[in-house]
Amino acid sequence: MSSLHMRTASRAAAPLVSHAARLELLEYYLAHHEDLVRCAQASVDWLARHTGVRRALCLAVDSEASQLVGLAGAGITIDDVELFSLSLSETQDPLVRALFSAEPTVVRPPRVNGHTTRVNVFGASPFTAVPLRGARGTDDEAVGLLLVRPGTSVGSDLTWLATVLGQKIDQIRGRGSLAEEVRKLRRERALFFTIINAVTDPIMLTDTEGRLIVANARAEKLFAATEEESEGRRRAVELNNMLFSAALSRTVVEAPSEARELLLVDPSDGSDLLFEVLSTTVEDPREGTGIVSVLRNITDLRRATEQIEENYQKLRIAEVAVRAERDRLNLIIDSVADPIIVTDQAGATVLMNAPAEELFTVAPDAEDLAQRTVQSNDAHFSSFISGLLLGETGPGEIRRGEIGLMNPSTSEQIPVEAIAGKVLTETGELTAVVTILHDRREALERTRLYEQLRVASDELQMRVQSATAELATQNELLRRQAIELEQASRLKSQFLANMSHEFRTPLNAILGYTHMLLQGVAGDLAANVKRQLTRIDSNGRHLLTIINEILDITRIEAGKMPMQVSEFNLNELVSEVMTELDPVIARSRLAVSARLSADAPIMSTDRQKVKQIVVNLLTNALKFTHQGGVEIGVNFEPGKHMAAVAVRDSGIGIAPENHEKIFEDFRQVDDSPSRQYGGTGLGLAICRRLANALGGRITLQSNIGQGSTFTLSIPAEAPQ
Ligand code: ADP
Repeated sequence: MSSLHMRTASRAAAPLVSHAARLELLEYYLAHHEDLVRCAQASVDWLARHTGVRRALCLAVDSEASQLVGLAGAGITIDDVELFSLSLSETQDPLVRALFSAEPTVVRPPRVNGHTTRVNVFGASPFTAVPLRGARGTDDEAVGLLLVRPGTSVGSDLTWLATVLGQKIDQIRGRGSLAEEVRKLRRERALFFTIINAVTDPIMLTDTEGRLIVANARAEKLFAATEEESEGRRRAVELNNMLFSAALSRTVVEAPSEARELLLVDPSDGSDLLFEVLSTTVEDPREGTGIVSVLRNITDLRRATEQIEENYQKLRIAEVAVRAERDRLNLIIDSVADPIIVTDQAGATVLMNAPAEELFTVAPDAEDLAQRTVQSNDAHFSSFISGLLLGETGPGEIRRGEIGLMNPSTSEQIPVEAIAGKVLTETGELTAVVTILHDRREALERTRLYEQLRVASDELQMRVQSATAELATQNELLRRQAIELEQASRLKSQFLANMSHEFRTPLNAILGYTHMLLQGVAGDLAANVKRQLTRIDSNGRHLLTIINEILDITRIEAGKMPMQVSEFNLNELVSEVMTELDPVIARSRLAVSARLSADAPIMSTDRQKVKQIVVNLLTNALKFTHQGGVEIGVNFEPGKHMAAVAVRDSGIGIAPENHEKIFEDFRQVDDSPSRQYGGTGLGLAICRRLANALGGRITLQSNIGQGSTFTLSIPAEAPQ
């Protein structure tokens, strides 16, 4: 059983207690109390309160058991009181001896006169044992003992108390068995403490001045500490007492029956403990006014409340965030041009954007057709969604399907592709299905156009293929024709070469005989015969020139004019040509000059061919120039390894449209029968062929009436 502390006010001892105090004890305690223990308790309390006594123990004689038993104590533990018993047979015990002594005895434990006393509740200090006697005074056998400390001198108050208490004990004992009385009371007390200790909340009874009278075990943990306990714990207990007293006085003053909060310190670990204090004032006819306080630990409750509050705040914040998120989502959904529909796990629509509303909602007063269209759209969509809900679509997986919808206002068919995804919770529970309907008309149109394009492209490809095949056929045809032409041309050249050769032999014979006749080999000729012979000679020579030129061309074409490379000086060649043509130059009466190159233009090419070209160009210049002059310029560029001979005349000139024509075989600018200038039209054609054979070319700068410049450009070294 838990101990019961009796806290007493430790006031300075007054030498004499007032009559009022004695009267109070007599009236309130002794007069009204009929049980032994309470009377004894009231007496020791009175002693502690009004005299200098710090500790007191009241003992009574149980005559049936022939022993001394404890009745009440002040400043000592209840166990010390209740467990006290001393057999009267121990006659040597100082207490037993004191019982039979007429006067108060001073006892000095532990060893007194060689005997040990069982009383060690007061420690090693000496104490006074005052015998308590019945109404008959000192003659009477003592009914009990009152042990007090300090007790160096026994004051009149103590003597007085011993007298009244002894008489009271004697009086009560006269009515019944002491042992029975004590047992009964102790049972009651034990029961009482069992009950209040069973309560987990601290329970306390205090007097009006805040002094603790009774406390249960839980309250003791908070408000009581013995000397042996740690400093920290004692401090905490002290603080708790102060806090509790302050709270109690406030309660009494302000609102006696109202619950108020009280923050205490847990003496075992120093943590804060929050209590709710409910105090009630109780009136006892014998004990007087007291205050019963029940402390309810609301630390956890407060913590829970705070937690709830905190969670609520979090919830509010989350709610605001969710609302903002939803607003944002709505904004996004509304700004998407494709219809978007959000359905719940049962397939019911919970959200749709404006484009979706156009397809799935209709005004109640709209036409029947529009109503039916919306219903049909709804049915199509629902069947798609139920297919999705029944199907095994995992989280994040997208399901696609095609739905045929119709625009309710225009009745236009709208084939759409439905793209749907499930929204699952963390635990995999389906919360919503988001479906986006994508209008496929544009895509279908694109596909159609693409198909058309593909067909067109295929056709084109086929045409290109057939055209290419035709072209190949034509090419082949042309190639064959070219081969045939080449063969024909070769045959022609061959024929011409043969013919020229056949012509040249008799013609040379004719010219030889004519020459001999003109030389007078057959005697002098008459003037007219000589004139006719001269005509034969000149026509024969013209014919020979033609035949020679034809022969040249045919030989070149037949590849029968091989290159004969030699080294020569181009300046010298030009001078040589001028010397050879001197008679013609003299006849022309033109100013003919040569502007030779300063660098010695040493050539390594076919000299004969170069000379033939220069002769031809110079002959033409003289032929087609009537006044002014002709100049032959030699240019040599050693760095480029190119040489040029330019023949410039101030003659009739050639129109640009004829610049190309005059290089063709048998072509002349004037090819009419009544033409002014003789010639075969083969000279330039031969020159171009020869220039090509030398790796060079002939260019022309000329215009009508502005003279002409024919320039032969050839590499200094003939190509291999
Ligand atoms: P032909 O033997 O007729 O002179 P060519 O092939 O040498 O043949 O010349 C072709 C034609 O080019 C000439 O008939 C003439 O019309 C023109 N031709 C050639 N050289 C000159 C030139 N220096 N000035 C004007 N015309 C020219």
